[in-house]
Amino acid sequence: MSESRESALLADVPDGLFIGGRWRAAEGGRTLTVRDPATGQPVKTIADASVADGAAALDAADAAFPAWSRTPHRERAELLRRAFDLLQERREDVALLMTVEMGKPLAEARGEVTYGGEFLRWFGEEAARIQGRYGANPEGTGRMIVSRHAVGPCYLITPWNFPLAMATRKIAPALAAGCTVVIKPAELTPLTTLYFTKLLQDAGLPAGVVNVLTTSRSGAVSEPIIRDPRLRKLSFTGSTPVGQRLLAQAAEGVLRTSMELGGNAPFLVFDDADLDRAVDGALAAKFRNVGQACTAANRFLVHRSVADEFAARVTERVTAMRIGRGTEEGVVIGPLIDDRAVAKAHALVTDAVERGATVRTGGREVPGPGTFYEPTVVSDVQFGSDILREEIFGPVLAIVPFDDEDEAVRLANDTEYGLVSYVYTESLARGQRMIDRLETGMMGLNVGVLSNAAAPFGGWKLSGLGREGGAEGIDEYLQTKYTLTADPYA
Ligand code: NAP
Repeated sequence: MSESRESALLADVPDGLFIGGRWRAAEGGRTLTVRDPATGQPVKTIADASVADGAAALDAADAAFPAWSRTPHRERAELLRRAFDLLQERREDVALLMTVEMGKPLAEARGEVTYGGEFLRWFGEEAARIQGRYGANPEGTGRMIVSRHAVGPCYLITPWNFPLAMATRKIAPALAAGCTVVIKPAELTPLTTLYFTKLLQDAGLPAGVVNVLTTSRSGAVSEPIIRDPRLRKLSFTGSTPVGQRLLAQAAEGVLRTSMELGGNAPFLVFDDADLDRAVDGALAAKFRNVGQACTAANRFLVHRSVADEFAARVTERVTAMRIGRGTEEGVVIGPLIDDRAVAKAHALVTDAVERGATVRTGGREVPGPGTFYEPTVVSDVQFGSDILREEIFGPVLAIVPFDDEDEAVRLANDTEYGLVSYVYTESLARGQRMIDRLETGMMGLNVGVLSNAAAPFGGWKLSGLGREGGAEGIDEYLQTKYTLTADPYA
């Protein structure tokens, strides 16, 4: 990957806030610097929004709402479709930008462009299908109309781990529904959102429909926006503790909220599983995004009769994984996002080992520059280990043996989270029982990666509220009105 191509691309990324259709500096000219986690080097300096900039962004979203919500659905759909097409044209640039600011291997970044782009296409299609109902009431005394309306200006907060897809997964349904938005990407990875916003401009985005705040003070800038009575919806993807705090803030205005929060996914391998498929699925579910996904498998619960063979096979594959900057050929393990992520992964492995687990491969920090951790397999993890309770968010595969189906279900559900589960079994009946018994909003049955723009993504329990994607995804940005009209024959 040539350095000059990266420099040219980075120079092309806007460095301002985007408010009311204009790029501009932050109040007082404040800036923040974005770094490459593979090198620790600064890559670009951009605007650092203040509370006043946040208020200006909400002013713009509020001002643009009446016209945008009345814009014909087909026009809204066509904007999203043009954005989808432009994203395909610029896919290599967007992928490279994500690798530079977030660290994921380029092949995975390309995968995220595909996945993230599908939300533009899907919700563009859904925009034209927003429907209501009309019919007589059961008493025959009137006619009932049920209509759907855009909820209003929305505040969208996205995390650093999927810089494009988390933005499109929120922006596309909001715009399709007729809402205007203020989006705040994570401080660590704001460049993809800035670049994507420029792409939306090129696709014909009207002023004020999307406004972008980049800031190093997410709490201080966000709270007044969330408490402002003009805001009607908050959509957040991030950690459960922050989500809980924001829900409390949103309660004041009784805001519509969508919360995509943390996970602690169990990955169940039964004794009747196809082990080849289970190993492939395990590696995908664990090491995609270097383990930094809310859907990452966190606990591998494996039937005792196959646990050793499963551990041996994954260890062989993990040992061969190449570590490096995501732009290098053949790299599958990029850096973790920062030092804290490395320290956390290592602390969890250390705790597991102290409680009796065996490190099969990895288990060490990689000396800098950059924030890397070796892809790791630990087996015979004992109950009570922190690694079974906490979201690892790193390249560590932890194996726990179980003896029967009831125990597997009990262990799988023994967490306050409920985002996703993975099940490997060749028994249809067992697979169906797992659909009933596992307390998660999503389940991969003999597959290790399941996200799809056409499917409702979201969790149970502390993993969140609401759904993104699918037919459900646009509902989050629509509100319902029931109108009764008089009996036309009376
Ligand atoms: P995080 O610390 O909760 O941050 C997420 C976003 O919230 C960032 O934009 C962050 O901005 C912002 N933020 C932090 N504190 C805030 C506050 N007080 N007020 C307003 N905004 C605030 O989470 P993270 O560590 O970046 O992301 C990893 C987490 O996201 C994991 O728990 C993962 O499971 C979860 N996640 C969930 C899904 C899902 O769909 N369920 C998808 C991806 C990730 P700054 O970083 O700039 O402060």
